[in-house]
Amino acid sequence: MALAVILGGGESGYGSAVLAASKGYDVWLSDAGQLKEPYRSRLAERGIAFEEGSHSLGSILEAEFVVKSPGIPESSPVVQAIRERGIPVISEIEFAGRYLAPHTRTVCITGSNGKTTTTTLIHAMMRTAGFRAELAGNIGRSLALQVAETEPEEQPDWYVIELSSFQLDGMYDFRADIALLLNITPDHLDRYDHRMENYVASKFRITQNLRPDDLFVCNGEDPETQAYLPRVQEGLQAEICSFCVKGASGPASYDAAAGMLRCGGFEFPVAGMRIKGLHNIANALAAIAACRKAGVPDTAIAETLRTFGGVEHRLEPVATIDGVEYINDSKATNVDSVWYALQSMTRPTVWIAGGTDKGNDYGVLMPLVREHVRAVVCMGLDNAKLVRSFTGVVPVYDTSSLAAALAACREVAEAGDTVLLSPACASFDLFRNYEDRGRQFKEAVRAFSGE
Ligand code: ADP
Repeated sequence: MALAVILGGGESGYGSAVLAASKGYDVWLSDAGQLKEPYRSRLAERGIAFEEGSHSLGSILEAEFVVKSPGIPESSPVVQAIRERGIPVISEIEFAGRYLAPHTRTVCITGSNGKTTTTTLIHAMMRTAGFRAELAGNIGRSLALQVAETEPEEQPDWYVIELSSFQLDGMYDFRADIALLLNITPDHLDRYDHRMENYVASKFRITQNLRPDDLFVCNGEDPETQAYLPRVQEGLQAEICSFCVKGASGPASYDAAAGMLRCGGFEFPVAGMRIKGLHNIANALAAIAACRKAGVPDTAIAETLRTFGGVEHRLEPVATIDGVEYINDSKATNVDSVWYALQSMTRPTVWIAGGTDKGNDYGVLMPLVREHVRAVVCMGLDNAKLVRSFTGVVPVYDTSSLAAALAACREVAEAGDTVLLSPACASFDLFRNYEDRGRQFKEAVRAFSGE
């Protein structure tokens, strides 16, 4: 029997192992770290062979192919050894895509920011229309596990799949029916030899294999996208729909003067949208274009725009206490997402920032900080760079715990202000992850109202 090796035993690795076993492969799952529950016990229950704590190359190099989890860098010794042997390395989505039922179609969403919001919004629009649609990719249950556990005839009509650049790197034959590339700003460059063009090329893999009947939705005002587009355009057979929110015209655009979103014959007043901010107008236009192509009726699109409240930890309203509004944007782990958060503030803002810096350049935020920010509250173990960047621009508070940061916010915020947690940094210095940071923030804020 052919051997399938799965590198990494998280959500996507576990799903790939189950799928490979169900398709008759011998399976060997190898993780250099410790496996988390419930994956370890479920692998054991299913009788799937695995190792943790190290990679035994002897077994791994027997593989017919390797499914590599997105978190494992290309530069790791085990991947290099596999490459030297010439063994194909693919991603979980590539693998699962081989077993999609003929009736199942896919909408695939990538970008540096906005993936989860847009993926969830498209899924919600499809569900409102009564479509049989499921979420997959970086969100919820892995595509591989869903495919493994669903009889082909029972598979949904649509999978709405969130794709990171790391998933895209291992994709070759997979094809989307509708592909969305929301924006490209620097992120994860450590995994791309610190070369932006490698990261951009990775994002553009979402367009590979598109056919004439398919749709490519992209950002008409994103410089990286627009600069790279001519390089793929010749081979790209699909129709292109670009969306614009800053004044340029495109098939999907936002008319700020009229306060209207427009896409083809569809129009919707921005005031009627429950999610707010220019970035969400962009996400909404991309979702509208994708859903119209998929045949979602305009009434279902409009209803979803009115009701969709966004995703946890993305500009999520928490509470208003003593006239101060608290917003949790813990997912904002890079400067670009903070730019959009600050840009959408309508009240004087006390901005909580900081954590593990990923090489941030805060210069682009200066005009918005001058316009909207009453004070910066730094929350991290090493705030030196933030403090240096904003001292002399607005008052800066240097704190190293959530409690101290919130105490500073309560001191400085006045009724009518907003306290915004939008860190621009990873969370690992003080928290387990961005979700943990967001939840602790919400709990602490809600505790004020009980005082
Ligand atoms: P992703 O899944 O790509 O990380 P999310 O939808 O989780 O994106 O949003 C991540 C962060 O980026 C949040 O802080 C959010 O407010 C911000 N954001 C959402 N959409 C966009 C966009 N289109 N452009 C810039 N920032 C965005």
